[in-house]
Amino acid sequence: MEFIPVAKPFIGVEEEQEIIDTLRSGFIGTGPKTAQFEKEFAAYIGRKHALGIDSCTNSMHMTFVAMGIGKGDEVITTPMTFVATANSVVYTGATPVFVDVQPDTMNIDPVRIEKAITPRTKAILPVHMYGHPCDMDEIVAIAKRHNLKVVCDCAHAIEAEYKGKKVGSYGDAACYSFYATKNLATGNGGMMVTDDDAIADTIVIIRDHGMSAGAWARYYTGEFKHYQMTHLGYKCIMWDLQASLGLQQLRRIESRHIKREALAALYDKKLKRLGENIQPFKTTRPVKHAHHLYPVILTGVDRDWVAGKMEEKGIGVGVHFRPVHLEPYYREVWGHKPGEFPVTEKAGEKLLSLPFWPEMKEEELNRVVDTLDEVIKEALNQKRTGNKR
Ligand SMILES: *Cc1c(COP(=O)(O)O)cnc(C)c1O
Repeated sequence: MEFIPVAKPFIGVEEEQEIIDTLRSGFIGTGPKTAQFEKEFAAYIGRKHALGIDSCTNSMHMTFVAMGIGKGDEVITTPMTFVATANSVVYTGATPVFVDVQPDTMNIDPVRIEKAITPRTKAILPVHMYGHPCDMDEIVAIAKRHNLKVVCDCAHAIEAEYKGKKVGSYGDAACYSFYATKNLATGNGGMMVTDDDAIADTIVIIRDHGMSAGAWARYYTGEFKHYQMTHLGYKCIMWDLQASLGLQQLRRIESRHIKREALAALYDKKLKRLGENIQPFKTTRPVKHAHHLYPVILTGVDRDWVAGKMEEKGIGVGVHFRPVHLEPYYREVWGHKPGEFPVTEKAGEKLLSLPFWPEMKEEELNRVVDTLDEVIKEALNQKRTGNKR
């Protein structure tokens, strides 16, 4: 039987045609396709500026650099995320300060944010986990009271809405990932959105070596220009092959989101018969959930054993996520240890993401549910009841 992966992008003839068009244009660096994708993405989110960068990780890093955050500063974030979230703070020389999450959303807990603020705190970096919006009213209010920036990691949350507005339109800036497994996939890629002209102007320069004008402006617009290097920049600008995919992927994002919602509801329904060892991870809050992943909580069975058996039986699974502060690097370099963030640590041993992408067929979903049923029964029979760390 064919292996069912945990995620799959959808690339249609439109993407192929857009890529061929770019390849034949004679310019495959950063040019008109990137500018067009930025314009359409800004309009979709409802922001003044969108800036193409080569990943979400680098988008967050560039945003902090543009905000002047660095050595001696602190940024409050969550340990329930992909390692890149915290790493983007470390790259600047600043300290990531973790606070625990809410058990019903896996999102950063605003009450704990306020308690973690010190005179060195400069920004809050929330993650809209799985595509479920964070409590943005509370987070933005805390930031206002303490004069902090809010930068959101929207890697899971392109389509997500909070109080009727795209979640990426809240706070000072939001950063997106277009990595191969994300809801909008360009292989590698990212975007930073903001309404702040000064931050946008700085990022335009520092994402491209700190130069005042890129290759497109210098060689392809019929006007000779020198560049000047005004800042110590980086090399992380988006290029037109990524933007070609992105432009077409953006046009599919809402129609695919409808399928995500239907598929998540189908999983919820079909998993009911598996009983109390497995609970879909969901909330009843009135938000537009982007449904990036379909996580479940396993109780009374060893999650890692179940994950291993699922893969053996041809079903791809993932864990989103194990706590960042318990990674060897964060233990050794930053002195973190088990017991600091109990909600994250407990969930980090029980979460399992099942295969989930909009074009997934009902037969495939049924095979996932049947296999999970089998594996859980096997785990109970063999008394595989807990995780060893
Ligand atoms: C994927 C992901 C990132 C990193 O995105 P890249 O584009 O690969 O840099 C950051 N944060 C979260 C929550 C992610 O899932």
